[in-house]
Parts: sequence; C-alpha cells; structure tokens
Amino acid sequence: AEFIAPRLRRVRPSPTAVISDRVRALSAAGVDVINLGEGELDFDTPDHIKQAGIDAIVQGDTKYTAVAGTAALKKAIINKFARENQLNYQENEVIAGSGAKQLIFNALLATVSAGKEVIIPAPYWVSYPDMVSLADGESRIVPCKEQDGWKLQAADLAAAITEDTRWLILNSPNNPTGAVYNHQELRALADVLLAAPQVLIMADDIYEHICHPPAQFVTLAQVEPRLLDRILTVNGVSKGYSMTGWRLGYAGGPAWLIAAMQILQSQSTSNPSSISQAATVVALQQDNGFLADWRNILDKRRQKMMACIAQIDGLSADLPPGAFYVFANCAGMMGKTTPQGVTLNSDVDFVEYLLDAAHVATLHGSAFGAASYLRIAYAIDDQRLDDACERIVRACAALA
Ligand code: PLP
Repeated sequence: AEFIAPRLRRVRPSPTAVISDRVRALSAAGVDVINLGEGELDFDTPDHIKQAGIDAIVQGDTKYTAVAGTAALKKAIINKFARENQLNYQENEVIAGSGAKQLIFNALLATVSAGKEVIIPAPYWVSYPDMVSLADGESRIVPCKEQDGWKLQAADLAAAITEDTRWLILNSPNNPTGAVYNHQELRALADVLLAAPQVLIMADDIYEHICHPPAQFVTLAQVEPRLLDRILTVNGVSKGYSMTGWRLGYAGGPAWLIAAMQILQSQSTSNPSSISQAATVVALQQDNGFLADWRNILDKRRQKMMACIAQIDGLSADLPPGAFYVFANCAGMMGKTTPQGVTLNSDVDFVEYLLDAAHVATLHGSAFGAASYLRIAYAIDDQRLDDACERIVRACAALA
C-alpha cells in the first residue's frame, strides 16, 4: 500500500541534508571531514542572549504564549523594523514563528493553490521550490546570470509574470550566491511590481546583518512604500545572532496575511518556544555591536577563500558581498580526471571528489538551480578553514 500522500511524493528531501548525512557517516567512520556545507555561523550565541533564555526558564516563562508571539516580542520586532529598516508596522502586522522557514512556508501555504505560480530567481535557497509544491503551486524558476552579479533583472521579472503569478521571492543577501541588491536594482524591480497588482512579494532578509561594505543592505518595502500592502518582510535571529537552534523568525506584512499565517500556526505548531522568544527580545533590543566584530572575522575568511580559489586552475568566483558563502564556478573542472581515473562530468562529481579526496564537504550548485557551481560556506574556525583550503588546492592539483 502507498501510505504517502501525493503532495509529499512531489517533495525532494533537502539536498543539503543528504550531504550532511554523508559527512556524519564519514565522521562516524573516523574520517576528519571539514564541513563547508553548513549554512550556519560557527560563532556562539552571545552570552547576554543566552542569559536571557536562562532567565526565562528560571522565571517560569515556560508556558504557552500568544500564538503570534508575546506582547514584548512583538514590540521588539516592531522597534527593530522601525529602527533598522524604517518600516512602521502595527501589532497586527507582525508575527513570530519557529524560524523564518516556518513563516515562509505558512505564508505560501496560506495563499498558493493549484494553478498559481511563484517566481523564484535562481540560484535559490533549496527549500523554496519544495514549499511551493507542498502548497500545490508551480515554481517559475527565473535564471540569473553570474555576470549580472546573480541578480534578477527587471526585464526578466516582467517576462516571467503572468495572470497566475501569486508571489515573487526575493532573497538578499542571497543564499547561495551572497548577492546583495542595491537601492537602484530594487527600484527597477519595484517599477515592474507596481504594474502587477496580482503579485505578492516575499523579501527574505534573513542574512541582513551579514553584508560587507561597500554593499549596503536595503529591503524592498523601504524602497517602495506603495508596495507595502503586498510585501511580506521575513527575518529572524538564526544568521545575524548565531541562533539557528533557537528556532525564532519573524515577519511584517499586511494584516490580512499575518492573520492567515497566524491561523495556520494556531492549528499546527502554536507559539514559537517561549524561551526563544524571551531571548530574542534581548537580541533585538540590546546593542548588537558584536556584529561588527563578526563581520570583520567573516570578511577575513571570505578573503582567504577567495585567495584559495584564485590559486586553483578551473575554479573562479567573484567576491560575494553578503551572507557567508562563495558561489564558485567549477565549469573548468569538467572533463578533468581524478587519480583513480574517474572523469568529472558534473558539479556533483566534483563535490564528491572533494569529499572523497580532500575530505572537504561543499554543496553542488545544481541543488540551488545553477549547474557547474559549488557553494562553499566559509563560516568555520580560521585554522580549519586554512586546512580546508590546503586540502582543496592539493586535491585539485591532483586532477589531470
Ligand atoms: N532563508 C534562507 C535564504 C536561508 O538560507 C535560511 C536558512 O538556511 C532560512 C531562510 C531559514 O532560517 P531559519 O533558521 O530562521 O528558519
């Protein structure tokens, strides 16, 4: 008997989870694998935020809260949007959930149905297309070009919009490319969107704080307030505060959409963890000066990875302005042969070769909708990153 529902049969297991499983298996077998596949900072959650979580437990903040978040958290979210993004939301226009991921999923599930299309610029975060499938919708993948800095062009957006378009998903700074849209680029997209009132826009700003000057973060709702009633601005503490395990994300948008997301949440997971909510209040309200130090450290690692790539014949990449990934072009590796006599025919082959020969885990670009690329996450300990670079250089030099 087939017990699995058709809806789930359309969904692929996360390709990033597949590599993580292989890394765990190799590590369990005693192999020293360096993981450049994980979308996570290696920094610890700052102490004052951890302490707020501990205090919440001690004080008994361990019960159900309002589904969309406590009054204190909503206030902190509203203040954050006002202070950092010049966006003014009311209490019924914000919601907290168990990670940005849950909010994106709920927003899609609440609004997408059979026959509706969601425009996803590629390369994209692996979860978007599968979330669209789960909501019975169709993903309309719009390829972006390396020479355009991996950014969606207004003309390509205009050409992709149909009467059935329900959403455009924008992600800046971008996973996997690190691309950051500037004001002018968002302005050009906004002009197209103003003329397409059937389209909602998801601004996935989860990497907001990981943005290197001269690139400057700006979000669509800030650029074009006339789109405010169609934009869901999604953010969270996972990346900017190194709080991936706390599972706390938040979003601001039109009251009708926030209300629909809240209904879904009330009938599925209810409120995000009360403890994580209390810690997030402190994260959002207190001084986040530590971020400048983090960015400095990440910038050095980014430069180190770029220097590593520059040494390797067959690999190239432009300096990524944001997030903590380098999206390297590995087309030059195709056709090369490993010492074992295997010919590399795809980015998957190359990723497997690096894992087997160098014991370095990366992710193939095709998982993100861009074949012949490699996503390298460099947010790991400096010493390990040096080791990883040496190993990659050595393994690539062994290719003929
Ligand atoms: N959006 C993007 C682009 C991401 O890369 C991630 C995490 O990998 C998320 C959203 C999910 O973040 P959260 O941990 O808040 O669910």
